[in-house]
Amino acid sequence: MPTLKKQVKISGVGIHSGLPVNIVVKPSEKNGIFMKRVDMTGTDLIPATYDNVGETKMRNTTIGKMNAAHVQTIEHLMAALFMVGVDSAIVEIDGAETPILDGSASEFIKAFNAVGVTDGDLKRIVVKQEVIVYAKDVLKELPKFVRFKIWVMNKLMGRKSDGFVKLSPNDGKSLDVSATLVYSEKIIGKQSFSYSYDGTKKSINDFVKNIARARTFGKYSEWEYLKKRGMGRGANEGNVIALNDAGDGTLNKLIWPDEFVRHKIIDAIGDMFTSGGIICGKLESYKGSHALNNLVLKKLFSDAKNYDIVTKK
Ligand SMILES: [Zn+2]
Repeated sequence: MPTLKKQVKISGVGIHSGLPVNIVVKPSEKNGIFMKRVDMTGTDLIPATYDNVGETKMRNTTIGKMNAAHVQTIEHLMAALFMVGVDSAIVEIDGAETPILDGSASEFIKAFNAVGVTDGDLKRIVVKQEVIVYAKDVLKELPKFVRFKIWVMNKLMGRKSDGFVKLSPNDGKSLDVSATLVYSEKIIGKQSFSYSYDGTKKSINDFVKNIARARTFGKYSEWEYLKKRGMGRGANEGNVIALNDAGDGTLNKLIWPDEFVRHKIIDAIGDMFTSGGIICGKLESYKGSHALNNLVLKKLFSDAKNYDIVTKK
């Protein structure tokens, strides 16, 4: 049950609320990552687990219930905890959203590495049978009017709901992620990226060097729309890649031309860590989303034949 050697305080603003927020990530003897809303009295610890994910519609992952104590946009923080190898911690937070920082996982990883991590291995969840979920499965769970709205939007924008996320067996020793994005915006187009995590320094360094700094992205023209609806208020050119209206350029400088799909790997890693361990298997994400990542874990754990849990190497 590896945890942090000391507590870490990180401050910033929430990407949707734009409000200042502080988190204190504390060492814990209790296994699991838990969030605690210290700005709300009488609330329990909120387990950051796949079966406690409340909402994935706002292009982020939220744990807890939206009408009660919850924490939004946990995925970059979760990816960072995974990468430093912490599976036990209590995250005290004085707002409803984690700080967006630079829109990536990089700052979290740096802060955790600065204090160090106690010894121990993460448990391994070995995929034994293929599990696949489709964008259509996500749509099925939504109310009819929302489905209709999405259908109209897709028609107008020429988008197809043909995404899927698949978990399948590999040698059982690594998490092999491959992600593909398909966008009509020319600057993104079709991009693919692969990353393999096997717990070695080499694979962790590979993530830190080539993936961790990749930022989230959005259309600049959507910002005003979102801001009016109380979303994206903390978004700025320091933490979100802003696509121009023509979709053929960005307002801020890209770190890599395929920074978009590299960011998807962060999201996938963070979402997979709501399993509580290392998902050992192949994760294929085609036009994936937080909703699909969550659904594939629910499906994996719905049948004991799909996986094995190995607590020791
Ligand atoms: Zn993200």
